[in-house]
Amino acid sequence: MPAASFAVPGERGRLVFSSSEDPIRATGTKLLTRDGLLLSMLVSSLSGVAESLFATLFPSDCRLCGTPLVNISRLPVCRPCLSDIRPIAGGVCSRCGERVFSPYALGSDASEVLCGLCRRLEPPFAKAVAYGSYDGGLRELIHLLKYEQVQPAATVLGRMLAEALSRLNSCWIQGTVLVVPVPLHAQKLRQRGFNQSELIARAAIKQDAIKREGASGRLVLHPRVLERRRETQSQTGLTSHQRRENIRGSFAVASPGEIAGREILLVDDVFTTGTTVSECARVLRRAGASKIYVATVARTLKADAKGIDLARDSAEGERILAATG
Ligand SMILES: [Zn+2]
Ligand SMILES: [Zn+2]
Repeated sequence: MPAASFAVPGERGRLVFSSSEDPIRATGTKLLTRDGLLLSMLVSSLSGVAESLFATLFPSDCRLCGTPLVNISRLPVCRPCLSDIRPIAGGVCSRCGERVFSPYALGSDASEVLCGLCRRLEPPFAKAVAYGSYDGGLRELIHLLKYEQVQPAATVLGRMLAEALSRLNSCWIQGTVLVVPVPLHAQKLRQRGFNQSELIARAAIKQDAIKREGASGRLVLHPRVLERRRETQSQTGLTSHQRRENIRGSFAVASPGEIAGREILLVDDVFTTGTTVSECARVLRRAGASKIYVATVARTLKADAKGIDLARDSAEGERILAATG
């Protein structure tokens, strides 16, 4: 009997099975049988909920490494790929979370370590924390959520964010912290169907409450406080000054009354240059927020930007250590 192939919107060629019960991988959305065509039409008319149920019932391959999945899960990523994603290790700037190599800086009190940038110019946020480096599996997992609409990835990313948040525990003065996800422009939100930062923030708040044994209410989501008025042009290739100019005026506070005098936790998926969260923090502060903290799942780190693997090339690593000071 020929294999049936299902074409599911947004999951091109992925949700497939053969009559021999072995999951197979299709190369496209070709429909092999007349039954397949009927089923395809049926599946096309199903809602997103039904699609994710379908994905649960017929797991395919790990979307990161391609290994056939043995466990039924809403997230099509295998366990080894998930456990390969590690938190940032080594010294980081206590303010912005950038990697700090200087043996002098690392030798001092870790809560006081500052990178060169933060020493030169004080960021508009009190502290930024991130779970992992924006590369490898973590980068792919974020892309699965953002560009391939694999929404169950938000649960895992939220768990990681909750872990990064534990580093802010001693910072909170007020009993409740307003959690504000970095907003998307309305047009992009329509296109994507969800704001990934909001999904991640929701999952992290849930996880934080579980960790604190049900003591929920500490972190309160306020997704409509900030709005994105203008879509930002690509920041690639711009200097830091140009990036700030480019993003100026993109964000506005929709309800200043809600944030006056409050501590705010700004949540984004990735911290690359910090331009976006810095602009959001500036706008929130101008509207009366007392202190802004930033948490992202991933962060671009200095060595990653230079494309150098310190573990693999220790001579080059030592050169960077000497050069970055
Ligand atoms: Zn895998
Ligand atoms: Zn810094």
